[in-house]
Amino acid sequence: MNILVINCGSSSLKFQLIDAETEKLIAKGLCERIGIEGSQLVYQPEGKDKITTVTPMEDHTTAVKLVLNSLTDSVNGVVKDLSEIAAVGHRIVHGGEKFAKSTLITDEVVKAITDCNELAPLHNPANLIGIAACKELMPNTPMAAVFDTAFHQTMPKEAYLYGIPYEYYEKYKVRRYGFHGTSHSYVSNRAAEVLGKKYEDLKIIVCHLGNGASVSAVKNGKCIDTSMGLTPLEGLIMGTRSGDIDPAIIEFIAHKEGKSIDDIMSILNKKSGVLGLSSNLSSDFRDLQDAYESGKEEGIRTIETFAYRVTKYIGAYTAAMNGVDAICFTAGLGENSAFVREMICSRLGYLGITLDKEQNSKRGEELVISTPDSTTKVLVIPTNEELAIARETKALLK
Ligand code: AMP
Repeated sequence: MNILVINCGSSSLKFQLIDAETEKLIAKGLCERIGIEGSQLVYQPEGKDKITTVTPMEDHTTAVKLVLNSLTDSVNGVVKDLSEIAAVGHRIVHGGEKFAKSTLITDEVVKAITDCNELAPLHNPANLIGIAACKELMPNTPMAAVFDTAFHQTMPKEAYLYGIPYEYYEKYKVRRYGFHGTSHSYVSNRAAEVLGKKYEDLKIIVCHLGNGASVSAVKNGKCIDTSMGLTPLEGLIMGTRSGDIDPAIIEFIAHKEGKSIDDIMSILNKKSGVLGLSSNLSSDFRDLQDAYESGKEEGIRTIETFAYRVTKYIGAYTAAMNGVDAICFTAGLGENSAFVREMICSRLGYLGITLDKEQNSKRGEELVISTPDSTTKVLVIPTNEELAIARETKALLK
């Protein structure tokens, strides 16, 4: 059973075709600059070279059409025709309080996702365009919506409420939702499997450290807290997002620099994080690590402040769960930077953690990087959100 996984952004569309029985990747790719000059499709059948086609894509329907043509192409295609695609799984960023689980897409579901648009104005409308484009071209193929927020819907009120007038929650659903849920769910489940323990018996902290970054506390198989909030701006210091700040900073800077709230929000989302903290040196940790190692102050202060924030969240979530059995690192930075993992773990001796440096130096595989006598285990689990979406879609078809 082949499942097409679609992750649609405002001007991009990432896709993977996965055999949901064997869980093997069949082909993947990316449409970039949709609706903008210079659009291109990068398509890669598994085990073969990438094929890049520069071609106009006036909208997402054109992009989906090109993807489907590539998948069914007589030379480089991987399926005979569209009947070999059993279903499409769509990544949807915000499901609000309406969606605590993935769901098959119906007209009512589309309406309910549309109702969440104001909570994720940059992401949800693009996700909906992806659904509409696929429906137009594959009207009889079942489709599933898999939400970034769903895994976190088990958070208790004490974790999701803000200390602001309760009427804003009642009127506008202003609360913490959390994101990267598909990744937190996949990684915490895999951690239990790798440790050979029951998921329901464990207290797990997942550190999803990529360009966007978040931490979650998963107790007995349920998320009880996570660091992102109403939007993905809260929590850790990220590539370009500030993470937690004193909200009074917004007014302070607006007055000092003569800026509007929109200007400041754009700065907090696009010009802050490690990029801003490093005085625009880079938002990429590879550059920051080079700067750190060559003794540049910008690199040192940025990486140390980033790591300190992660350590603080691990401490908070250990307290929230009254203990922790396993800490997992995932996503671009979490999976690839032995350096940052070591910096974070060196501050966790109080949890009985000793890092196995040889294990920590390996890459690209699932690893336990704490020594066997460590009382809290530390793991690296490469995330696979597309596979998780394919699994959810397959389960819904049944
Ligand atoms: P993601 O958003 O999960 O794709 O993660 C992207 C980020 O991971 C990049 O911006 C880098 O900061 C970081 N990253 C990727 N590879 C490495 C690496 N080898 N060493 C350090 N950081 C890395």
